[in-house]
Amino acid sequence: MTTIKLINVTKIYDRDTVALNSINLEIKGGELCVVLGPSGAGKSTLLRIIAGLEHPTEGRVYFDNTDVTDTSPQERDIAMIFQHFTLYPHMTVYQNLAFSLKVRKYPKPYIDTKVREVASYLGIAHLLRRRPRSLSGGEAQRVAIGKAIIRDPRVFLLDEPLANIDLPRKEEIKHLILKLHREKRYTMVYVTHNQDEGMSVAERLVIIKDGEIQQIGTPMDVYNVPANLFVAEFIGRPKINLFSGHLRGNVFEAHRLRWVLPQEYPSCEAIIGVRPEDIKVVSGGDWNVEDVEYEGRDVLLHLTNGQHTLRVRSTATRSYKVGDRLGVINKISKYAIFSPNTGKLIAVYPKVQ
Ligand code: ADP
Ligand code: MG
Repeated sequence: MTTIKLINVTKIYDRDTVALNSINLEIKGGELCVVLGPSGAGKSTLLRIIAGLEHPTEGRVYFDNTDVTDTSPQERDIAMIFQHFTLYPHMTVYQNLAFSLKVRKYPKPYIDTKVREVASYLGIAHLLRRRPRSLSGGEAQRVAIGKAIIRDPRVFLLDEPLANIDLPRKEEIKHLILKLHREKRYTMVYVTHNQDEGMSVAERLVIIKDGEIQQIGTPMDVYNVPANLFVAEFIGRPKINLFSGHLRGNVFEAHRLRWVLPQEYPSCEAIIGVRPEDIKVVSGGDWNVEDVEYEGRDVLLHLTNGQHTLRVRSTATRSYKVGDRLGVINKISKYAIFSPNTGKLIAVYPKVQ
């Protein structure tokens, strides 16, 4: 199990595109680490630098205690899969799987055993004679995974592995990747821009934006204790409610909005964040229902009082319709407070250990 370490890694393309800015990151041996961020954040660049496909402009990359910065991908013993399945179109599935062992001149019987073993593990044994063109997205990604793991790499890198797979197959491939991680204990770095996907697979998340790490933590950490406004808004659907106003004692006031908090704070200008499920509504009041989305057990309500809008997640124990009038309970017991100047977290309630 290989530990990956990035020390002050910076990547600048074309003299002035800073794709990564001084990244420091340690991914532990056997860990499944998800790199999550919007498009253009630098995720693929980070993965390509770990793979050895890009050279950092500055900084070093270590596998365990060996500096691998100047070594080739082959020497690093990594496997990588991409969102575009990188299969050789003119070869059968069997030949695709066998390819990396064949170029390394392994004996034929060994290759044959390995190919069949991997194909049966991944549920693609019935596809061995087919060509990539005739495979569905899910099948092609299974073959790409097979191609990647057939050599038992030290490090397994995945760049948006579910992006081109039909919705019903996405869950299946996701669980296959989780099973691989559980059973083979590869050190895995999984890149995605999809927060639901990232949250659901990660042991630890690295959230990046504009080439900089915003927060590193478990899915629970980043949801409950977001380090800044960007993370607070990026994680969680529907989005966290944010209000700009003034904090005085245990009251937060924004124009025509008043939240009563369970704790006192020093007076300051602040931004308060309240997740949709932490807002309680009652029948009758000055909020107008603008939108209703049923989600099975829950209902998502979009409310407005003319000044502010509110996203509320409630259990669907009664029916709501557009135009209903609701009251919002102004006592809240779960929230986060941010600095309006830096956007950084000042406090959360309740405190999380
Ligand atoms: P992500 O994978 O998070 O969408 P990338 O790592 O692909 O982000 O890109 C980060 C930034 O670097 C973007 O601004 C992108 O345009 C730029 N970039 C990526 N690859 C290259 C390249 N080969 N040449 C020039 N700019 C690049
Ligand atoms: Mg990318």
